[in-house]
Order: sequence, then structure tokens, then C-alpha cells
Amino acid sequence: MRAMVYRGPYKVRVEEKDIPSIEHPNDAIVRVQRAAICGSDLHLYHGLMPDTRVGMTFGHEFVGVVEQVGGSVENLRPGDRVMVPFNIYCGSCYFCARGLYSNCHNVNPNATAVGGIYGYSHTCGGYDGGQAEYVRVPFADVGPAKIPDGLDDEDALMCTDALATGYFGAQLGDISEGDVVVVFGAGPVGLFAAKSAWLMGAGRVIVIDHLEYRLEKARSFAHAETINMADCADIVVEMKRVTDYLGADVAIDAVGAEADGNLIQHVTATKFKLQGGSPIALNWAIDSVRKGGTVSVVGAYGPMFSAVKFGDAMNKGLTLNMNQCPVKRQWPRLLSHIQSGYLKPSDIITHRIPLEHIAEGYHIFSGKLDECIKPVIVPQYA
Ligand code: NAD
Ligand code: ZN
Repeated sequence: MRAMVYRGPYKVRVEEKDIPSIEHPNDAIVRVQRAAICGSDLHLYHGLMPDTRVGMTFGHEFVGVVEQVGGSVENLRPGDRVMVPFNIYCGSCYFCARGLYSNCHNVNPNATAVGGIYGYSHTCGGYDGGQAEYVRVPFADVGPAKIPDGLDDEDALMCTDALATGYFGAQLGDISEGDVVVVFGAGPVGLFAAKSAWLMGAGRVIVIDHLEYRLEKARSFAHAETINMADCADIVVEMKRVTDYLGADVAIDAVGAEADGNLIQHVTATKFKLQGGSPIALNWAIDSVRKGGTVSVVGAYGPMFSAVKFGDAMNKGLTLNMNQCPVKRQWPRLLSHIQSGYLKPSDIITHRIPLEHIAEGYHIFSGKLDECIKPVIVPQYA
């Protein structure tokens, strides 16, 4: 088959690989119809995630058709259209039993914090991902679900991560009726977090980024107010100014490890790798919420020290909620919002790229070129 492979920082290409085979009776093999590139893939592409091995196929956002199932699979059959959450999880350990699917204890011998993620380095289990013609799906009875009739592949694709994570980010904000919610980052996750905040009763939603074309999407897609951080000498002061000098009730970090806006933080984290991520947006979130407010962190950080303003969070009495998204937990509500017409998640897709040209896709998305918001990879491009 043809598959994306990692060759080293900023280098990916398409190569021939063996079609994956059933390795365990609860595996399925899925023929990929659509895959997406995620902001998380950029952390891998930029060489920031420990133990990202040359030869790995990335891709934790994909939908497809079941090609083959192992002997014990009961919920899927060949020919089923399936959406697959980015988490790989057993469904039965202590953590899965509590809905913490992203923290499964049985799928990742290399770490005790995160469970398994498709195509996301050996730190996240070493599983090949879906930016390929075929992918092996372990625990096929647990993670994947049949795509409901009438739901198109690209809307389903957004449910496998970006939409679920944005919604989860809003959920972790514990938003109360009328709350002022500020979202850092107008990437796919931030856009979906802003859109979801309204569903949870927000009274105002403010999105911050430095890319004007993405802020435009935050206004048109998520009906948010926007602030371009490049126009402000101090974004925290600006946030105070627009909130009667109290601060927002809730802040959502939808930026993560590669945040811009402070040269020292950015360079120590992304060039010298002295931090597990540059917590600029997170520190802005801590500073921008009012005392007693809530900070939700869905932006991803690496498994290491980061210079977070913890004392300020403590002394302000903030609540900090965070995790990798347990994707499947969000699906019932997301699917009903899509079916009722409130959400059309595929509206944020800007690029559809044949698998053969995936290197260009990474280059465009990484450089935020060509007004790219969400690139989708199409393995069988007609
Ligand atoms: P993206 O790279 O497309 O978007 C990030 C946005 O943040 C960009 O538009 C960038 O301009 C903006 N930005 C940079 N510095 C900023 C700052 N200081 N303040 C405000 N905005 C700033 O990525 P994405 O796909 O939207 O993902 C966002 C984050 O969420 C990434 O860290 C990704 O790894 C993470 N993520 C987490 C989960 C999870 O389960 N928790 C799932 C998916 C993605
Ligand atoms: Zn993702």
C-alpha cells in the first residue's frame, strides 16, 4: 500500500508499505477514505515529540471502510463505514471503566500518563496511523463506530478528533449561563471550542490568534468576537479591558506546545527543547481569567517540565481542567448537534490533498500558507 512515512523533522514522504494484517482477534483492517492532518501532527513533524521514529506513519484522524475483521470482532463487519476515535483503548481497565479512554492502562508500554494514539510516536504506543491506504485498528469492538446513515465522511472525520476535542475543551471549562469564555487559538480545535461554548450557555465568546484569516473564520463560523494578538502590546491587559477589568470566567488553551508570543518561552521549548512545550497561551489563559475562574487545557504539551505560572493559578483560586480528549464520550451529543443542523464541522476544511502529495499538505498546514485551516488527505483521489 501507499503510506505517509516520517523521515525526520520537516521531512515526510509517501512510500510502499505492507498492507497491515490482523495481529490479534479483536483487530480490524480499515481501508481509509479520508484522513486529516492535525495541529498535533505538527508537533511530530517539527521533531518535538520524544521517540518519533523514522518510518512511522502518522494519522490519528481517519474514517474508512472495514476490509477485514479478526475472529472475535462482534460489532463490525467487512463493508461497514466506520469512524475511528484517535484514542486506542481497551475499554475495560480501571481508567476506561471511568470514561478516561485517553488514559487507558493497557495499550501503551512506554508511558503511564497517556494511553494509545494512532500514528503518534512510540511515546504514545508506537501504533501506525491512518495517513495511508490501510490501517490496523486494535480493539475494533471498542473504539470505532459505524458512521450513521446520512452523515458524510468528512463530517464524521471531524468527529474523530478536532470537533470532539473542541467540544471537550468547552466542557472542561464548566461554563455557566452567561459566562465570558476566551479561547486561545483559532485552529480547528479552537474554532470548535468556540462554537461549542455557545451550546453550553456562554454569554460571550472571544477568540485570540495572530492569523487574521483564522480569526475571520472564528467570526463567521463560530460567531465569536476576536482579538488579534499581533495588534496588542499586552493581550492580558486587553482581555482585562474588554471584561470590565475582571477577566474572563473561563479560558480555553487550544494552542499547546508551540505557542508564539514570547520569544524566550518559544525558543527554549521549540528550538532547545528545554521545556515540554512553550506555555505562553496557557500562562495568558491563567492571567486572563478572573479570580476563581476556570482554565481548560486541550492544547497538547510534551511529557516534561514547562514553565507554567502555577503560583498565580494557585493564588487566584483557579480550577484547571485538562486531558487528551476521550473522543467517543462526546459522540452522542456531537452527532445529535450535526443531525439537527447546528454543527456542520466539515465547513472548516480548506484543503483536500491526494495522499501522494501529503508532503505538500504538511508544508502548507505547518506554514499556515494558502489560508489553510484544516487539510484532509484523500488516499484514492479520483
Ligand atoms: P493549529 O496549529 O492549527 O492551531 C493552533 C493555533 O494557535 C494557530 O492558529 C496559531 O496561530 C495559534 N497560536 C499560536 N500561538 C498562540 C498564542 N500565544 N495565543 C493564541 N493563539 C496562538 O492546531 P489545532 O489542530 O487547532 O490544535 C491545537 C492544539 O490542540 C495543538 O496543541 C494540538 O496538539 C492540540 N490537540 C489536543 C487534543 C487533545 O485531545 N487534548 C486533540 C487535538 C489537538
Ligand atoms: Zn488530532
